[in-house]
Amino acid sequence: MQLDLGTDPRTEILRRMHDRLIDEFGRVIRPDDERRDPIWTLVQGVIGARAKTAVSNANTDRLIAAYGTWDKVAEEELSALTAALKTATFPAMAAERLKACLQNIIDQRGRATLDHLAELDTAEAMEWLEQLPGVARKISAGVMNTSHFNRRALVLDAGHRRVAQRMGLVPAKADTARAFDALMLVLPPEWSAEDIDEHHMLGKRLAQTICRPKQPHCEVCPVRSDCDHGR
Ligand code: SF4
Repeated sequence: MQLDLGTDPRTEILRRMHDRLIDEFGRVIRPDDERRDPIWTLVQGVIGARAKTAVSNANTDRLIAAYGTWDKVAEEELSALTAALKTATFPAMAAERLKACLQNIIDQRGRATLDHLAELDTAEAMEWLEQLPGVARKISAGVMNTSHFNRRALVLDAGHRRVAQRMGLVPAKADTARAFDALMLVLPPEWSAEDIDEHHMLGKRLAQTICRPKQPHCEVCPVRSDCDHGR
């Protein structure tokens, strides 16, 4: 995995895209109190497959309120965890993944904590996260960028990745890891972790409202002039 920065025509496109999306949707800045412990963010991602963010957030808050520690969550029976996650899109799968992930962390670190990642650089920390069951690039980038770690790592959900593919910023068939590697190399070097977080939320909003999966509304899209598909 490479996280180096460089110059590329796509860097200027990303700057323009960011400004135009702010013009379209306004600023989308994550409040500090929405940055959570890294392990909270990991759990939220692991149980959040195909679920709305608000539902996954509520489930994660409910779990830690009910059990007190993530170690206790890992000890719980699968059937009880499945019941606790009944509002998840796939409760049984979420429970199984969560238990396996937390247990793996405990096996390696002695308890359910990600504190050791603070000592690693971002690429090393993401590689460590991605060897956990149920953790791929979207979740590892989310832990790095949106938790208290607040590191430079671009979260790419399916919608934002679709936008990047259609615009020609990443290869058309790039999976999340490949798209992440391609975009991290060309992000404007002056962007902070918070800017990168905002860029993801703006890209996600574009995907949800205008760059829809089956029928993109290119005629009203603010980034059309920079988009391979839209042109
Ligand atoms: S111009 Fe069309 S395809 Fe390109 S990002 Fe906008 S809506 Fe999506």
